[in-house]
Amino acid sequence: MSKVYLTGAGPGDIELLTLKAHRVISKADVIIYDRLVNPEILQMAKDGCKFVYVGKKDGKHTLPQDEINEVIYQNALQHNIVVRLKGGDPFVFGRGGEEAAYLHQRDIEFEIIPGITSAISVPAYAGIPVTHRGISVSFRVITGHESPNKETSQIPWDSFKTDETIIFLMGLHNLKKISSKLIEIGKPKEYPCAVISRGTTKNQKVVIATLQDIAQKAKEMPTPALIIVGKVVQLREELEWFSKSSLNNYPLNS
Ligand code: SAH
Repeated sequence: MSKVYLTGAGPGDIELLTLKAHRVISKADVIIYDRLVNPEILQMAKDGCKFVYVGKKDGKHTLPQDEINEVIYQNALQHNIVVRLKGGDPFVFGRGGEEAAYLHQRDIEFEIIPGITSAISVPAYAGIPVTHRGISVSFRVITGHESPNKETSQIPWDSFKTDETIIFLMGLHNLKKISSKLIEIGKPKEYPCAVISRGTTKNQKVVIATLQDIAQKAKEMPTPALIIVGKVVQLREELEWFSKSSLNNYPLNS
């Protein structure tokens, strides 16, 4: 009986993989992985494990989701232990829910192995806690993929007036629009924010700025990158621990 493990690979640093993910990866007959998975993790697989890459190739787009679903399903028909490996956590903007539903509808057994999401671990490696007593009582993780100028948006922009921490994933290409929108809804121009690129890896880069100048300061940051907006960003001054990289020495590693 075959089983598909929808598995989180963590944000980049391979030591942020869970023990459970490590166990299924080392037993997998096939691993279906995408762009954000640190390729070093694949070396944990057993001899003879088949690898299927479903991320972007040579400038071409990622396989459409329905084709990825089918690739997973077809592999489940042929192999016992199928690991579907995704960056971060499979259910945080990972479309893991859609893949699980596709398998459920076809009577394929599956398990979900959560991963450490970039949304909180990448700020942590930059010395930014997503909540902090007296500063931020909550955090929100939002898709930055959608343009803030879209007429019918599901994103509650007006609700971002509070001091809760806001983390945008997939938003680098919309950075200018996102920061302008936040100013438009009433956040101060000097409000602290940061862009963190390739977090938790040796190529991690951090730009600290204000809503007003973040787009200019972070315009050359490589992907993947996330945007974090909130007073907690200022804590980095004291809490930075992982690297001293900043725009000053960028682009050292790219
Ligand atoms: N499931 C993933 C997120 C997928 S969406 C998770 O839980 O982390 C992809 C987005 O995640 C990227 O556009 C970027 O915003 C963010 N991201 C993933 N890995 C990252 C990293 N190492 N550094 C910075 N941002 C990262």
